[in-house]
Amino acid sequence: MFTTDALVLSHTNYRDYDRMLTLYSPTLGRLDAVAQGCQRPKSPLMNATERFCAGEFSLVEARGRLTLRDCRIKESFYPLRQDVDRLTAGAYLLHLLLQCAQPEEANRPLFLTSLKALAYFAYGGLPLSMAVMGYELHYLALTGQAPRMDACCVCGRPFVQQPGLFSVHLGGVLCPGCGVGEPLSHGARRILMRVPMTPFTALEKLPGHPDWPEAARHARSFVAYRLDSPPRLWPGIEEGSRLG
Ligand SMILES: [Zn+2]
Repeated sequence: MFTTDALVLSHTNYRDYDRMLTLYSPTLGRLDAVAQGCQRPKSPLMNATERFCAGEFSLVEARGRLTLRDCRIKESFYPLRQDVDRLTAGAYLLHLLLQCAQPEEANRPLFLTSLKALAYFAYGGLPLSMAVMGYELHYLALTGQAPRMDACCVCGRPFVQQPGLFSVHLGGVLCPGCGVGEPLSHGARRILMRVPMTPFTALEKLPGHPDWPEAARHARSFVAYRLDSPPRLWPGIEEGSRLG
C-alpha cells in the first residue's frame, strides 16, 4: 500500500457500486484506480470519489491494477457544485489536467497551482473569468507551452513599449511586419508575460486593469489551439463575469 496526495479528475461508474477514478498526484502524475463499493449507501469512500475531491489517497497495487483503500479528504471545493459558472470553470480546469497528465510524471507546481485556482473558483476573491485566465497562463507555463511574449517569435526583436500582433500558430507576439496575427496592446502583452512569472495571488492586483479582458481573450485562443479535444463547456472570458 502507498499513500499520495491527489485530486480526483474524473470517474466512471461501472458494475452496480464501483467506480473507476482518474487521480492527479503531484509526485506520480496520472493514476487510474478502482474504488470498489464506493456507491454503496454507507461506503466511507463515497465522498472521496467525487470530482474535485483533494486529499491523501491510500492505494494498493495488485496484478497491474490500482485499488483505492482509503482517503483522508482535505478539500472538496463544495461551492463549485452550487453555481453553474463556478462549476464550468472547475470542470474546465480538470479537463486541462486530463489533457496533460501522464503516469509517473511529477509536477508539484502544477498540482499546487491547480488547487489554488480551484479555491478561487469556489470561494471567490477574484472575478471568475480573471481567475480562469490566471490558471490558463500558469498552466501553459507549467506544462512548457507558454507563449513567447518578450520578443518577436519570428525575428527575435525584443518588445519594449510597442504594440504588436499575437499569433497562436506561431506561438506568441510578432512585429506588425513579421506575420499575421490579432492586434495586441502593450498592456495585454505585459499581462500575458507577467502573470505566469508571479504567484497566483498576485492576480488580486489586476481587477480594474483595462487590458486584462484582451489578455484573457488571447490566453483562451492560445489554450484552445493547443488542446487535443475541447472541454464540454468553455468558461466565460468577458469582463461581464460577475465578481467572486
Ligand atoms: Zn519580428
